[in-house]
Amino acid sequence: MQDRYEVAVLGMGAMGAATLYQLAKAGVRAVGIDRHHPPHDQGSSHGDTRITRLSVGEGAAYLPIVRNSHRIWRELEALSGESLFEQCGVLVMTSRPDYDPNDQTDFTQRTLRLASTHGIAHEVLSAEQIRRRFPQFSPVLDNAVGYFEPSGGYVRPERCIAVQLQLAEELGATLYKGETITHIASDEQGVTVTTDQRTIGADKVVISAGMWSRDLLGQPFDRLLRVCRQKLFWFELQDDARFAPVSPTFIYYHGAGDDDSNYGFPPLPGEGSLKVATEQYSEETAPESLDRTISDAEAQAMFDTHVRGKIAGVSSRVVKSAVCAYTVTPDSDFIIDEHPALKNTLVVSACSGHGFKHSAALGEALAQWCVRGSSELDLSAFSLKRFA
Ligand SMILES: Cc1cc2nc3c(=O)[nH]c(=O)nc-3n(C[C@H](O)[C@H](O)[C@H](O)COP(=O)(O)OP(=O)(O)OC[C@H]3O[C@@H](n4cnc5c(N)ncnc54)[C@H](O)[C@@H]3O)c2cc1C
Repeated sequence: MQDRYEVAVLGMGAMGAATLYQLAKAGVRAVGIDRHHPPHDQGSSHGDTRITRLSVGEGAAYLPIVRNSHRIWRELEALSGESLFEQCGVLVMTSRPDYDPNDQTDFTQRTLRLASTHGIAHEVLSAEQIRRRFPQFSPVLDNAVGYFEPSGGYVRPERCIAVQLQLAEELGATLYKGETITHIASDEQGVTVTTDQRTIGADKVVISAGMWSRDLLGQPFDRLLRVCRQKLFWFELQDDARFAPVSPTFIYYHGAGDDDSNYGFPPLPGEGSLKVATEQYSEETAPESLDRTISDAEAQAMFDTHVRGKIAGVSSRVVKSAVCAYTVTPDSDFIIDEHPALKNTLVVSACSGHGFKHSAALGEALAQWCVRGSSELDLSAFSLKRFA
């Protein structure tokens, strides 16, 4: 006999775990399916930490979403007793020789403008103020500008996923882990999901399959979504004092090119290392051919280009590294919309490298869509029709 549910959530990473939790909380009979055992390190939601900030320079449409997420992280902490959201502040800064303060495209300036327009508490920092408060960045050029947001910081992705899945299960959701979805079909009766182990019927389906979405979803997603390999590095701390007493998460623009930026996190207690990473959008890969190892040459290049002469107090010794993948849309904004060919099926591809901070709130919104056909958050900016 076929299992039958009100909602099936396909993929239980950041987006799926949040959606399942909110569905279960709303009393919906829900099932989640994942090919791995989330939280895991095979997709886009691992690596200990994710930046969160209220002034989301990626665009004003994201501001209400991240606000809701900050509320939900705190609710989840109260329910679980886990520490999920560290409000250590976030520093966005541009320190590059050719910096033009009138450059409207500069990310630090965009972040500043959004914060001012939307009343987000922040400070504008001069080069001298950055040097004094954050000696871990050195040298800071005289024309540098910084945006400091005290309410930003980082969330712990693996813990967030684990907590939401556990709560979902306690609230009655069914979780099938280690099970691969092979086919999705829909008709007037609902949606039929076939896995390598069973067939499931559902009134509605949310597909949150991360970097595997392209193959599972077919057209037009196969031409819209690109998978890009990203590298994470943890460099050994040499001078802990530079990171005390205040160490924020940071996004650091040190040149004009697409690859001339990095981001990082405060050293986590007891780990003796600083996590620093970059982003790249030019080289595409595929889930099945993703190279998950970091070579010595890659580690050295990272240190030479993004750490030496920019971040002080760490050595070039890599104590840990990881590979993770972005699923990128043509404009780097999310896709959250009904599948054009499958009925009662909502697709969420909320990555492009900046989705985690929004995941808790998106889960709430997607659950509302399943229950009442629409969400309190306005997600129209993420519809497919912008690519038509
Ligand atoms: C290196 C890196 C750094 C990032 N930094 C930040 C940051 O600082 N701040 C921020 O806000 N965001 C950041 N992001 C983005 C954020 O992490 C992602 O937007 C988010 O994790 C995506 O979640 P997801 O649910 O879409 O994908 P995932 O968490 O990967 O989940 C997809 C799930 O679907 C499952 N699945 C796929 N196909 C199938 C199938 N056929 N059958 C069964 N299960 C299937 C997978 O096993 C997986 O568990 C970063 C991402 C990366 C990679």
